[in-house]
Amino acid sequence: METKLVVGLEIHVQLACETKMFCGCKLGFNDPPNSNVCPVCIGMPGVLPVMNKKAYEYSVRTALALNCSIARFTKWDRKSYYYPDLPKNYQISQYDLPMSFDGVFEIPVGDEWKKIRILRAHLEEDAGKNLHEGIGHSQVDLNRAGTPLLEIVTEPDLSSAEECRIMAQELQRLVQFLGVSHANMQMGHMRFEPNINLIIDDNGIEYRTPICEIKNLNSFRALEGAVAYEKWRHLEEWKKDHNWTVENYGKQNRGWDDAKEQTVFQREKEEAHDYRYFPEPDLVPVEIDDAWLASIQETVCELPLAMQHRFVHDYGLSDYDASVLTSDRATATFFDEAVQECGLGKRVANIVTQFGLKVAHERQCTIDQLDISCHRVAQLATMVQEGTVNASAAATIFEKMLEDPAEPQAIAEKENLIQKSDAGELEAAVLEVLKANEQAVAEATSGSKKAKKARGFLMGQIMQKTQGQANPQIVNQLLDKHLAD
Ligand SMILES: [Zn+2]
Repeated sequence: METKLVVGLEIHVQLACETKMFCGCKLGFNDPPNSNVCPVCIGMPGVLPVMNKKAYEYSVRTALALNCSIARFTKWDRKSYYYPDLPKNYQISQYDLPMSFDGVFEIPVGDEWKKIRILRAHLEEDAGKNLHEGIGHSQVDLNRAGTPLLEIVTEPDLSSAEECRIMAQELQRLVQFLGVSHANMQMGHMRFEPNINLIIDDNGIEYRTPICEIKNLNSFRALEGAVAYEKWRHLEEWKKDHNWTVENYGKQNRGWDDAKEQTVFQREKEEAHDYRYFPEPDLVPVEIDDAWLASIQETVCELPLAMQHRFVHDYGLSDYDASVLTSDRATATFFDEAVQECGLGKRVANIVTQFGLKVAHERQCTIDQLDISCHRVAQLATMVQEGTVNASAAATIFEKMLEDPAEPQAIAEKENLIQKSDAGELEAAVLEVLKANEQAVAEATSGSKKAKKARGFLMGQIMQKTQGQANPQIVNQLLDKHLAD
């Protein structure tokens, strides 16, 4: 018996717009309930929605990065359903003419690349939120109603829970790079809905289990957990009953219980006709001409995976360091500019990952918001490369740079951190230490087990005597010379 997991993913991405999709209400987070609402987004009769042009451009930019075809003519549709958080009783979405379609997105799976086909990406508005916090009643907050959402739908090309997580994480990095979404998981900017079933080959007979859609997953962990759980559950259900197939049971919606780490049945899945889609009469269709499309094309930046490859290929970084440096666009751009100035990929990578990102993380900002500038980081990397300062001095200089706008060379001089590489100058210190530590010298030259330790001790004494400014390479050469005497 062989089984194959088949997963298609729907991803909702909240766009980083100032205002809602069809009205001028502010998009806030944690604002008082129902403070960002107006007659349009609470669905008063007789009001007229107006499309947010920025949201449309962000969507096209994303679709281009996903290698989608862009529809030159699209329209809006009403998707009707009744729910307390949807006061209009319909959601404005795109049904048969989505703004983009037929794309492809490559994700890294192990050492390979896997092409995930994109069926379509379309724009729609979010609903409000039902709050079930009081006893005996629920409340509705419509601040979120009308928030612009880009829905990206993949073909069922994903075949493991891990692939689903990678896809979701790569998409997060992509939309952040493109600047179209903050993609902050804690703030609910990305939600995932996998459609899952299993193809079972039992002695040449093929069974397909019912398609289950898991609704509203809002973390990578939940996404990966839900898909893994369903893979297990589908096989168990089918083992109990070989008639548990898509032909007999169709589709169903399930939810994810984060605490129990299980999916739970919600309802049979609606078909499209249940939503009574029809064209939105209050909005004009959108037509994109060549000039508008070209202007959006210009806003598509170098994509994160391409940049990661370039850092490995051109700058000799490890894939791990390259992925850390391209985890957000601010870091990637900062790093890239510093390397372009000094040509020292690995040195700059060390400074940025070991010092810069650590401080940025502590201060909850991006690296470009620290007052260090890529120019000064390039200079510091050059100083380490040329042996002007050693690695521990570089750490001290970086720390001073956070408060002091001076050039790193000036800081190093002021703090007395310039490395001493003049053998003649260092020789006196070496000889002094050797003279004062006869026992250690004897052990270091004994060839015994203690030799290595004794040499390390002498090295430490010399560094202390020179206040950490001695170039360790030169000191080692001097030790070789004088211990052999
Ligand atoms: Zn509004």
